[in-house]
Amino acid sequence: MMATHRNGDCGVKEDVSSAVVNGEATEASTGLKLQNGATVRPENFTFTSEPTLEDIRRMQAEFTDERNWQQFHQPRNLLLAMVGEVGEVSELFQWRGEVAEGLPDWTESEREHLAHELSDVLIYLVELAEKCHVDLPQAVLRKMALNRMKYPASKVQGSAKKYTEYKD
Ligand SMILES: [Mg+2]
Repeated sequence: MMATHRNGDCGVKEDVSSAVVNGEATEASTGLKLQNGATVRPENFTFTSEPTLEDIRRMQAEFTDERNWQQFHQPRNLLLAMVGEVGEVSELFQWRGEVAEGLPDWTESEREHLAHELSDVLIYLVELAEKCHVDLPQAVLRKMALNRMKYPASKVQGSAKKYTEYKD
């Protein structure tokens, strides 16, 4: 139901990102390396505080009610719609090679297209959570607490291993 926009360009694009060399992310893409090996984020990008997830849930409910689309928005359909939108996000990154944080080589039009597709994913995710009666903001808090227990900062510094690979 979301507007779709196919790029149409499926050719292999040259990787113009200077922040990635031979598949290795450099300091320009990952932040400044400190002497203790930790990294500092290159910039403090933040979201605005509104709309909240509840605002998004309500706006999407109004949007579907106005169109009598509730009949189509069962959990399974919403899941498939969300996965389709993830595919549309993937298309924008396809054939580019690695991309530096902040997307410095992308045009304004490409950035706006990405913003649209990420929004489609979020809208369907929020609606899917609603239809499954998952209170998403609270669920995120519980899951992040679990993640902190699974991956204690003191134990996993700088490692990308899965939690099952760590030994006590
Ligand atoms: Mg879309």
